[in-house]
Amino acid sequence: MLRLQGIAVSPGVAIGEALVVDNEGFRIPRRFLPRDAIDREIARLTKAIDETTAEINESRRRITERLGDDYGSIFSAHAQMVNDRKLRQELEELIRDRHYSAEYSVSRVLRRYAKVFQSLEGAYMAERANDIFDIEKRLLRRLLGEKREELAQVSSEVIVLARNLTPSETAAMKPEFTRGFATETGGPGSHTAIVAEGLGIPAVVGTGAFLSDVSGGEMVIIDGDEGLVILRPDEETLARYRHEVAEQKTLAAKLDELSDKACETLDGQRIQLLGNIEFPAETKLCLQRGVDGIGLYRTEFLFLTGDSIPTEEQHYAAYREVAAAMQGRPVVMRTLDLGADKLPLFPAPDDERNPFLGLRSIRLALKHVDIFRLQLRAILRATNDGDVRVMFPLVSNLLELRRARMVLADAMEDLEEEGVPFNRDIKVGMMVEVPSAVVMMERFVDEVDFFSIGTNDLVQYTLAVDRSNKDVASLYTSADPAVIRLVKMAIDAADAGGKPISLCGQMSGAPLYTMLLLGLGLRSLSVTPAAAPEVKRVVRSTTMEHCQCVAERVLTLESARDVKTYLREELSKLLPDQPI
Ligand code: PEP
Ligand code: MG
Repeated sequence: MLRLQGIAVSPGVAIGEALVVDNEGFRIPRRFLPRDAIDREIARLTKAIDETTAEINESRRRITERLGDDYGSIFSAHAQMVNDRKLRQELEELIRDRHYSAEYSVSRVLRRYAKVFQSLEGAYMAERANDIFDIEKRLLRRLLGEKREELAQVSSEVIVLARNLTPSETAAMKPEFTRGFATETGGPGSHTAIVAEGLGIPAVVGTGAFLSDVSGGEMVIIDGDEGLVILRPDEETLARYRHEVAEQKTLAAKLDELSDKACETLDGQRIQLLGNIEFPAETKLCLQRGVDGIGLYRTEFLFLTGDSIPTEEQHYAAYREVAAAMQGRPVVMRTLDLGADKLPLFPAPDDERNPFLGLRSIRLALKHVDIFRLQLRAILRATNDGDVRVMFPLVSNLLELRRARMVLADAMEDLEEEGVPFNRDIKVGMMVEVPSAVVMMERFVDEVDFFSIGTNDLVQYTLAVDRSNKDVASLYTSADPAVIRLVKMAIDAADAGGKPISLCGQMSGAPLYTMLLLGLGLRSLSVTPAAAPEVKRVVRSTTMEHCQCVAERVLTLESARDVKTYLREELSKLLPDQPI
């Protein structure tokens, strides 16, 4: 058994067989063979070794021709390794005695070898480990016939283990088959993490290197509450986690009963509970969970799943679907927020060193005005299908907001000229996710109809902590007193200007912060649909007076650790059975 500590990004426990996805996306299939398949499997292995040797020799010939013998000899060493008698013997024994498949044997043995090299100090040793991975890859490519398993095509239940997953790869996962995932890299606020939560898949990121310790088909537990990945669990651990999964199901069933109850405090304060979505299909879950509308539709995911820039009709089809599904409830469509970790169609320039400080979000949209205008036309057209509102992301100064509004005005003018109907009085809002926007709130209040605080970005820009970097993950927290003060400033300024304000960062979906946020003055929260029942449960169990006391107390605390400890205590007093 091996326990790895990572960063918990999507709650819940998942137990299942590993699907190891390396950079090339190989799937290493289940490990056991029927008894009568053993000779055939050894023949497959022999053939793969022979073909790999031929392939390596060919590489050696080509490299020697171009760069000389010194370089070519690297491949001679590879060829020797593949044909090492001891290696072959070990592989054959695993197939014969343990009935492992050739792929699984190759992966297991070579990864063990690589691990030994990795554990030795020095660049030379690290290179040798890479050589072994290279050989493993070559052999697997032969054995699997170049088959690359697309995550989207997985058709049996698995736990995905990968070095890294992009937000679009995560979005393409089928939640019915992907029970959970863990990645070696990645930080707490990455969009990969957010998508996992949206899909309700338990996930852990930023564990550091572990893929060389695991092979496909092995048993894995993902503990998305504690941020743990447990490889090859022993019976006792397995039993404990199976019990936990059963308990989670019971709690989920209890929470389901809340969906048609009002989101209201004990002393009668109604709280608007909205849902965050990435795809139109998520409206179904939002409705099941009884949300009052959509507070954040991350429209850029239309770009992340396709391989070309969507047409106006594709935008419109998606927006109409969302607006119609929500049956007159408000739907806030956030305009394109591409760039940084959401980048497929606009690759960052080579000299982009700080993508989160670079050409992302509204800046990227204002640079590609044609694409932006086309999206705005589609949003405007969707105002005929429901209560559609528009919101600009990452606004960092007034001129940026005004420029965005000008593009919106252009789109309106075009539609008018073309005789296409739309709601001219569409409500226009902005996200508050850069400290400069908070500081300038008293000016912004005159120029928009509503606000939504995006703590995922506000945390990273306030604390200067990259939201997707595991090495600074411990600093990335909404509990930091500086973040909480900025949230309060934004709420106070919006209230003073008479404009509604909500909060749609992940902070609002964590029950830990619910009392604090109400106490700071929020009356609207936009959460991942999966989190809606738990948040509602907190709202329905508390009073505004208590929430105000909680907020007052929190504002006296000096560190994120103190804030979290205090909020945990308060939540466990309120709901003793709430897993925190
Ligand atoms: C945020 O930054 O809080 C937010 C909701 O936007 P995103 O997570 O998509 O950047
Ligand atoms: Mg953001």
